[in-house]
Amino acid sequence: MSISENVAAVRANMDAAARAAGRDPREVLLLAATKMNDADRVREAVAAGVDACGENRVQELVQKQPLGAYVGKPLHFIGHLQTNKVNKVVGKVDLIQSVDRMELLEAVNKTALRLGIRQDILFEINIAAEPQKGGFSPEEALALAPRMGEYPGVRLCGLMAIPPISEKKGDNRKYFAKMRNLFVDIGGKKYDNVSMVCLSMGMSDDYEDAIAEGSTMIRVGTAIFGPRDYSKKQES
Ligand SMILES: *Cc1c(COP(=O)(O)O)cnc(C)c1O
Repeated sequence: MSISENVAAVRANMDAAARAAGRDPREVLLLAATKMNDADRVREAVAAGVDACGENRVQELVQKQPLGAYVGKPLHFIGHLQTNKVNKVVGKVDLIQSVDRMELLEAVNKTALRLGIRQDILFEINIAAEPQKGGFSPEEALALAPRMGEYPGVRLCGLMAIPPISEKKGDNRKYFAKMRNLFVDIGGKKYDNVSMVCLSMGMSDDYEDAIAEGSTMIRVGTAIFGPRDYSKKQES
């Protein structure tokens, strides 16, 4: 299957999942998770009509952006971001989905203020409280959202989560439901610098469940590009 056929198939599944949940399919955006795919393949996905591209390695972003890989679509950063690489990402992407700790929030804010811009961000939430994973706890996010006025270099636009790899369909629905509740809780308040428009959850294996639970953006790699070859050397 070609990339464009894969995108069409994912779109069809997204539409069906949205309708089954009584939602308008236009409420859910499709982000292509482009890691380990070169600029040509990313361009193919863009041409096939994905809504956004997401990179999770600074190295790849810096390589592909000058080649015009993402032209015409918003670019998001979705991976772990080291504070010493913040200056390569802030102002270069439309949204940083993976703000997962105070130190990073502060670094992004500071860099954006220095550039005279406001960087859109999401909070990454460690929704299954997995010890090996980064991310704010729901309690931390609830406590931090009212204080976003203290960070005028950023705007909080929503939440992102990477729940555990699901063994079978349905496994992650409880986490997606918790995410939606948190999203609605914070979005129901009127906080400075907060505009809760994006709930980013759902990947190749579980996006239909995520859509059923209120996702507004799914991040899909494998189902668009095919399996990744991890035997090739990668740098972050
Ligand atoms: C790779 C990646 C995805 C997509 O994963 P697939 O299972 O290949 O769809 C989504 N989100 C993030 C943060 C990723 O790194």
